[in-house]
Amino acid sequence: MRFEGNGIVKSLIYAIIIVQITGWSGKSGPGLKICTLPNGKNMKKFKRIVLLLGMLFLFQSAYTQEIVKVDLPVRGFAIAAPQKTDVDRFVSFMDEVLAPRGVNVLILRVDYNYEFKSHPELRNKVTLSEGDVKKIVAVARKHGMKLVPQINLLGHQSWAGSLGNLLKVYPEFDETPQVQIPVDYKWPNEDGLYCKSYCPLHPGVHEVVFDLMDEIVEVFETDAFHAGMDEVFYIADDKCPRCSGRDAAELFAGEVSKIRNHLQVQGKKLWMWGDRLIDGKTTGIGMWEASMNNTYRAIDMIPKDVVICDWHYERPDQTPVMFAMKGFDVISCAWKTPQVGVQQVKDMFRWREFQTEAMKDRFQGVILTVWSGAAGFIDGLENYMAAEDKSKQEQSQPWVTFVQMFDTIDKISTK
Ligand SMILES: [Zn+2]
Repeated sequence: MRFEGNGIVKSLIYAIIIVQITGWSGKSGPGLKICTLPNGKNMKKFKRIVLLLGMLFLFQSAYTQEIVKVDLPVRGFAIAAPQKTDVDRFVSFMDEVLAPRGVNVLILRVDYNYEFKSHPELRNKVTLSEGDVKKIVAVARKHGMKLVPQINLLGHQSWAGSLGNLLKVYPEFDETPQVQIPVDYKWPNEDGLYCKSYCPLHPGVHEVVFDLMDEIVEVFETDAFHAGMDEVFYIADDKCPRCSGRDAAELFAGEVSKIRNHLQVQGKKLWMWGDRLIDGKTTGIGMWEASMNNTYRAIDMIPKDVVICDWHYERPDQTPVMFAMKGFDVISCAWKTPQVGVQQVKDMFRWREFQTEAMKDRFQGVILTVWSGAAGFIDGLENYMAAEDKSKQEQSQPWVTFVQMFDTIDKISTK
């Protein structure tokens, strides 16, 4: 419970209380003389007033301290890990922008942008060194920011016309080796190629990806790993000798569980995107932010301690309720539509207020996701913040969404 109202109203209430208690109206003759200084006759009453004001001041100070600030447990930000040349700028950005904004979870898409010692054959040409990562770790620790490094597992093993490092080095892991990556990539295409997947039943794939996972979690000194696992379109392919004819939901759940179990025995948690666990057809949400390839029943087959990052970029879909009702911790994710991000913040607070005690805390908060590089986002935010009239700036941008979402969190959590 809190005392609502501004200072003027409070002062008036206090003044009335004082007048009632002391009987001192300030009237000493015709007309009101509220501002009259006390003479000898009124000095006794004046002392009583000073004493009462002192007591009220003490009472109000103590009362204010008892107010519990209601906030979201996760005030998150997800972005590609910086390029090697941008590390110092990124560290300053964490220190000077993310931390003051109250960001307490930072998901970094690392993929192969790290000098993996376990599998040097998978490194990008230029990568972050261990020293670079430790700079990020140091500033995160300084601000109590949880780091969640991400490597895309299962899906997203290619992007447009380029194959990802895993399938480049280990082509035998490809779920659809018969599908060639075109020189001139276009969507839609005859192969239904969005991104390649690895085959979750290939006997050699986990030995490799678990090494990467263990190494990245260790160097980031954290207990959480984000496996991506979004937009998996190639699964249970009818030409895969291991997966053909199998149930897509069972294959998907099997892969999630395998990754989760590997982390769980080390006391670490799996985070992932939620789209493959939502029925795209029944909900009308469709093939991107939900599943149209029969993976959604996996929601009832995976362990409940997987943290679901539920991304919706065009509408604030109410799917977090479904995840929470199934027993998962869930975080709403926005991208570049400010109204969607702001509504997701409001929904989170509403669910945390009105759901049952059993469910409230599963609504963990929000994440602003950025799908361009770190440097581009920092440039965009700096230009936006420097603009005199922000309403004249292009609004459909992740930095505008970021500012509006975090302003909304502050407004609701401190009102
Ligand atoms: Zn397969």
